[in-house]
Amino acid sequence: RGAIAFRNVRFAYDPARPILKGISFDVPAGKTVAVVGPSGAGKSTLSRLLYRFYDVQEGSITIDGQDVRDVTQKSLRAVIGMVPQDTVLFNDTIAYNIRYGRVEASDSEVEAAAEAAQIADFIRGLPEGFRAMVGERGLKLSGGEKQRVAIARTILKAPPILILDEATSALDTKTEQEIQAALDVVSRNRTTLVIAHRLSTVIHADEIIVVKDGVIAERGTHGELIDRD
Ligand code: ADP
Ligand code: ADP
Repeated sequence: RGAIAFRNVRFAYDPARPILKGISFDVPAGKTVAVVGPSGAGKSTLSRLLYRFYDVQEGSITIDGQDVRDVTQKSLRAVIGMVPQDTVLFNDTIAYNIRYGRVEASDSEVEAAAEAAQIADFIRGLPEGFRAMVGERGLKLSGGEKQRVAIARTILKAPPILILDEATSALDTKTEQEIQAALDVVSRNRTTLVIAHRLSTVIHADEIIVVKDGVIAERGTHGELIDRD
């Protein structure tokens, strides 16, 4: 479920400066495909087009054969989970933030998701536990803690499609490894598009697409790309 196809996708924010100049690749259902490339290459733009923050100007993006332009943004967001580089939490409780997107989830489901994201013990250690307020007027969580909350939210939502957009880029090396391990668990058997700027963080991807100057410069597994260096 959730097979994604990018076909000859072209996009420019400014018509005089095309960002994507004909990108075609598939993310087969249940597989993980990583898009890597230098900063400014248009990697995040690809994820924004899939999520319909913007629409493709030429070409198409389909999910299970259906053009995303024929799907409402609301229903797209129901099937796509996204972990961004810097998670911005709502000014509300930790429980609210984890439950967001699946408001009907029970407390025990929220706790199980927090457990799987390995942040449950931290939350239980807080005086107010899952009722602790976070965000601007509440508790200041570290970058890694915020990413774990975002991961717990994704585990609870269990979307068929997952976008990881530089989800570990803002973290120090040790935290990055811990969060990467949690993300590997979340993306297993789920159609996953990973955006990354370093090959070393996408070793487990089924395929890696290298985007440079708006086109796919190279593609292959991590082992294949390393061998060609
Ligand atoms: P990457 O994720 O590979 O770093 P992006 O997709 O974020 O690249 O951006 C690709 C290019 O598009 C960059 O040159 C960036 O400055 C430009 N860009 C990104 N977002 C916008 C926007 N909203 N308006 C205009 N230009 C943008
Ligand atoms: P690091 O060792 O710091 O993790 P990488 O070697 O993984 O960095 O990648 C650094 C940059 O070089 C990235 O932008 C990546 O896309 C690019 N790159 C690395 N190896 C290849 C390759 N075989 N083909 C194309 N681009 C590559």
